[in-house]
Amino acid sequence: MRIFDMSTGRIKRGQVPVDLPEKIDQDLDSLLLSPLFVDLHTHVRLNDQEDYDTLSHAALAGGFGVCVIQPNTRPPIENLDVLKNHVELSKDKDVHFLHTISLFGEINDLNELEDYTNNIAGFSTDGIRYTSPDLIKAFSEKKSALVFDHSQLHEVPGDFYIDSKLPNAVRTYSNEAIAIFRTVLTGLEFGFNRFHIQHVSTSQSLETIEYLRKKAKVTCEVTPHHVFFRPEEINNPNQKINPPISKDRDILVNAVRKGIITCFATDHAPHPEKPADFERAPYGSSHIEVAFSVYLKVFEDIELVLKNLTINPLSVLGKSYEELGLKFPNDAVLIDEKAEYTVESNKFFSKGKNCAFNGYRLKGKVLGIRRNGRWVFWNGEFLR
Ligand SMILES: [Zn+2]
Repeated sequence: MRIFDMSTGRIKRGQVPVDLPEKIDQDLDSLLLSPLFVDLHTHVRLNDQEDYDTLSHAALAGGFGVCVIQPNTRPPIENLDVLKNHVELSKDKDVHFLHTISLFGEINDLNELEDYTNNIAGFSTDGIRYTSPDLIKAFSEKKSALVFDHSQLHEVPGDFYIDSKLPNAVRTYSNEAIAIFRTVLTGLEFGFNRFHIQHVSTSQSLETIEYLRKKAKVTCEVTPHHVFFRPEEINNPNQKINPPISKDRDILVNAVRKGIITCFATDHAPHPEKPADFERAPYGSSHIEVAFSVYLKVFEDIELVLKNLTINPLSVLGKSYEELGLKFPNDAVLIDEKAEYTVESNKFFSKGKNCAFNGYRLKGKVLGIRRNGRWVFWNGEFLR
């Protein structure tokens, strides 16, 4: 069996450090034990939709042991009471949940949250419609911390980028890059200097980030859909995602290879069944259970994929695996690199069946999950 070593970012051959729960017929050479994955961009819904139980199962089935929850819940995570409720609902799960706080809410200083500081990853603008005055007000009132930015000029219309054949394809490509510029330069004026740009989708955004890195610490992530799809492949409402799929897929893929993009994330966004027409459908895809396989299919480089799902997102958080309460190999994911499967979202553990990749054939699969030295998931099922 092979092992992914986080201290070197390389795969090494080694003695199997753990017993498998059953005798298996897979070729042991196709198996690989890795630390659990870290997702910097996860959505939970609550209110009869995705909750922390279903999300924990979905995340673990996809290999993820750490999820950073975005604040656009109902009600949004913008005051202490809502935060307390989320921390309470998400504790004692096999996934380590961190929360982000709305940049536009009542909480100004994350260091003053005492008991909760270990549960918080930073401020976030994700899922919230904001304007330039909102940003200026927020940055002027709040104490500096890591900011997760969903960079978008919300006043610019359009569900899809200009030139695609889809309805309401009037969004300008420059939208995202201008928004990144606005967030980082405005934040800098008020003493903020750590920015994590979420789901970059265009080449202009990458050029902007490279320029801004001369002035501030700017990291960024990509999502499975932005490196997988081309705009002409989008043909159903589950593939309506914000930001939209752009013509720059190959540029994003290269930017990952060159290390310009810091890490992978999922933007797992579960929804109840979407309406059949694009214009009424909300944005988002539920896919935390298959994100690893999508990345492996696109990059065909297991070391690169594992680095971008473990070491690199941890570096954005500025935390080690151990600081998040995890230990290798007691907390680990066993991957079967050669297993092939077709995505069937109706079988997801997530309540969201709205998967952009439904029906696609993928290669490389999560076979087992260990937590605290015990197998909790094996071959598609949770063990009691
Ligand atoms: Zn999001």
